[in-house]
Amino acid sequence: MGRIIAIANQKGGVGKTTTTINLSACLAEKGKKILTIDIDPQGNTSSGLGVKKDELQYTVYDLIIGNCNIADCLIKNIYEGLSLLPSNVNLAGAEIELIGVEEREFILKKEIDKIRDEYDFIIIDCPPSLNTLTINAMTTADTILVPIQCEYYALEGLSQLIHTINLVRQRLNPTLEIEGVVFTMFDARTNLSLQVVENVKENLKQNIYKTIIPRNVRLAEAPSHGLPINLYDPKSAGAEGYRDLADEVIEKR
Ligand code: ADP
Ligand code: MG
Repeated sequence: MGRIIAIANQKGGVGKTTTTINLSACLAEKGKKILTIDIDPQGNTSSGLGVKKDELQYTVYDLIIGNCNIADCLIKNIYEGLSLLPSNVNLAGAEIELIGVEEREFILKKEIDKIRDEYDFIIIDCPPSLNTLTINAMTTADTILVPIQCEYYALEGLSQLIHTINLVRQRLNPTLEIEGVVFTMFDARTNLSLQVVENVKENLKQNIYKTIIPRNVRLAEAPSHGLPINLYDPKSAGAEGYRDLADEVIEKR
């Protein structure tokens, strides 16, 4: 059975979307069957994978409010081995529409359970908040992967995230685990990046990936071409980083 990994951190700009796109693509490159799920209304994972998000007939939003079946909104094999459940700004309305809906924390899980056997990994990009959509990702997931940006306030908000994960484990998803923490945007030229890594290692009990994703301008450029890094610039430091992370994620099985 496939492993479902939610990429979560309620801080914006820490590399959730970049990690979702490129971990998904690098796992697919290694021959794994991947489903990527975009549950952020910003839809950056969808556009970063080359999907024209505003021209879609159905998205995760329609799936969540019961407007379509999973087959209607699934985009199969965008790249070899990588399929996508896309999102766009419509999803911003879901939070309100779900008020009072029974079992609203499990809507995504019920849909994904129908198809999870078809994939080796399912990677979910979460929005930058701890809202109903993120909770849906956490009830669907087996594990949570937390990207941490190598900057001064790296640990800010992390205890709140871990508290939320613990609550979800107690009340909604007893087998939920923290997959691990991955450092992103590491700048080898600054002492700050090194200090942040040391500080987090000292203060965090969670599993920390050996792979550290470097700050690499090619990673920032790739989404505007609608390509994951392994296709946009296969030899870049960013591509190497996400390939190494994919190896570690596979090894952990
Ligand atoms: P989040 O989804 O957590 O908000 P993003 O993945 O969108 O974060 O990243 C925020 C910004 O930083 C984006 O413009 C992205 O292109 C850029 N970025 C992310 N990771 C890197 C990296 N390793 N090197 C350079 N730029 C990066
Ligand atoms: Mg994002």
